Amino acid sequence: MRKPLIAGNWKLHKTIPEALELVEALKQNLADITDVEVVVAPVFTALVPVAKVLEGSSIVLAAQNCYFENNGAFTGEVSPALLKDAGCSHVILGHSERRQLFGETDELINRKVKAVLAEGLTPIFCIGETLEERENDEMMDVLKRQVTVGLKGLSESQMLNVVVAYEPVWAIGTGKTATGEQAQVAHAFVRGLLAGLFGTPLAEQVRILYGGSVKPDNVDGLMAQMDIDGTLVGGASLKAGDFIRIARFEKN
Ligand code: PEP
Repeated sequence: MRKPLIAGNWKLHKTIPEALELVEALKQNLADITDVEVVVAPVFTALVPVAKVLEGSSIVLAAQNCYFENNGAFTGEVSPALLKDAGCSHVILGHSERRQLFGETDELINRKVKAVLAEGLTPIFCIGETLEERENDEMMDVLKRQVTVGLKGLSESQMLNVVVAYEPVWAIGTGKTATGEQAQVAHAFVRGLLAGLFGTPLAEQVRILYGGSVKPDNVDGLMAQMDIDGTLVGGASLKAGDFIRIARFEKN
């Protein structure tokens, strides 16, 4: 019922020629995939050239961030309308690196989620606890706050266009992946939160991705979990072979 979504977050990597080389390889090797939605998120400067290569393919384009205003005196920012103009259909929001390194709050992320939805784009809304929060038994409180504030004020129809990404901060870029069972516990909890806010039938339709050191050798176990509907991949999305294998995960 929930179509799997595999997204590659290229972070601050790859020049335009490097981005084109990677996306050409993905296009050639993933052209026949129709039962999985594949999304790539290059740096801003590579969005337009990558969009041109992706024309006519089923792979779609995401930005890694945006501002909540569409124009005005906001030096250095980029808006949802401009990202749509550049060919994006998705925008990653609230990534833990934005929260930790750039001080993004739940309230700010909520404004961004609404702005992205207003432009008809799909937010990939990231949440997740730090190691300290997990060890202090605060994981559920943190996820509850992030979900409640980050998705505040969304209508049911808007929520249907949101993709949630659960990314435990301790697993991002560290090589430490949550086990399938650990991830499933968190995903089921998040789906329960969505059910509380938007009702069970709607929560059952929302895709919840797992992110945090997803690799070719752990993707199958993660994707076998009932509430894991896809993955948000950082490091392994920079290598064509690894990302192709992840997008072609084995279904149980
Ligand atoms: C990410 O950037 O969202 C991520 C999960 O990174 P990595 O796969 O490298 O842990």
